[in-house]
Amino acid sequence: MVSGVSLVRWIPINKPTLDASEEREVLEVLRSGILTSPAPEGGPKVREFERLFSRFIGVKYAIAVNSGTAALYASLLALDLKPGDEVIVPSFTFIATANVVLLLGAKPVFADIDLDTYNIDPCDVERKISEKTKAIIPVHLYGLPADMDEILKISREHGIYVVEDACQAHGSKYRGRMAGSIGDMGCFSFYPSKIITTGEGGMITTNNGVLAEKLKMIRTHGQSKVYETVILGHNLRMPEICAAIGIAQMRKINKILELRRRNAKILTEILEKSDKIILPHVPEDREHNWYLYTVRFENEKIRNKVQEYLRSKGIDARVFYPKPIHQNPLYIKLGYGNIKLPNTEEACRTVLSLPVHQNLTVDEVEYIGRCVLEALKNA
Ligand SMILES: *Cc1c(COP(=O)(O)O)cnc(C)c1O
Repeated sequence: MVSGVSLVRWIPINKPTLDASEEREVLEVLRSGILTSPAPEGGPKVREFERLFSRFIGVKYAIAVNSGTAALYASLLALDLKPGDEVIVPSFTFIATANVVLLLGAKPVFADIDLDTYNIDPCDVERKISEKTKAIIPVHLYGLPADMDEILKISREHGIYVVEDACQAHGSKYRGRMAGSIGDMGCFSFYPSKIITTGEGGMITTNNGVLAEKLKMIRTHGQSKVYETVILGHNLRMPEICAAIGIAQMRKINKILELRRRNAKILTEILEKSDKIILPHVPEDREHNWYLYTVRFENEKIRNKVQEYLRSKGIDARVFYPKPIHQNPLYIKLGYGNIKLPNTEEACRTVLSLPVHQNLTVDEVEYIGRCVLEALKNA
């Protein structure tokens, strides 16, 4: 919350839909007394949530864990990533995408983005490949799928894995296929700001049975059964209460996606009237889930003025992300401070995300659109 807007209704950038159906599911778990399971296959609610999610994404296996970060971490553990291995990632993403690589003692190698889609640029990925490259993590940023055909082509040519960071891409599609079903593994987050939530939570999706079995063990200390550790793992288990919330959320996911699509369309129709704003570009072969509706301006000064105006009007317009990963103090200390990723740096200076979530009324979306146009007149 920002001070000075207390008289205006605050429109948050994202807001989960929680009602009596989540409450019923959670109560059921509390009354059952089964709060978690240390078995690799998980407890009853975890298994039910996994069934629903794998069917929705169109994959054979889904493995629930306790965050999106845990999903990414488990995927890299399943690939037996070792110190010295390199993983190509974008620098224009949430910090977790690169941090998990560091956590395994491996080296993140940053590739630049395409400014039309804000996603990793396959040409730069190709340039960053070395003998040590073990995997690529394309991020479907804001919910728009990355250029997967090009990335898969590179991965096949060089024999490297593809782990999709689909933490923002529940329900997004690339050439008719769901994000998270295209690479070797897909990783999702159920943090409260995401398309659906479990409080904290994550999921790994895959069609690879060997990886699926490994992931189930990795989430519970590498145990093939309780007290029988066969590989290195961790406690990444999703609690039954979280899985129960996820089950209720899965009943709403299609409605949520439909409302976000409606809101994004209304906003586009209003903002199209201005030539001072670069609207989100959705290539013909992709479907956006509108997790974030992100626009771009001519320069940082205009962007900041528009953001300030919107916030004074009670609109939670936000910058994802104000700083590239490689310019964070930790990464500077690790020697990344001098690398140059011009498109990433330009995006950080000029993007702004506007609310289009499922809990907005048509009036509120129109209000947001009007305020952006007003802000541009003054900027
Ligand atoms: C949210 C997010 C994550 C991490 O998910 P958590 O559930 O917060 O751990 C990773 N990558 C991206 C792109 C995200 O948006």
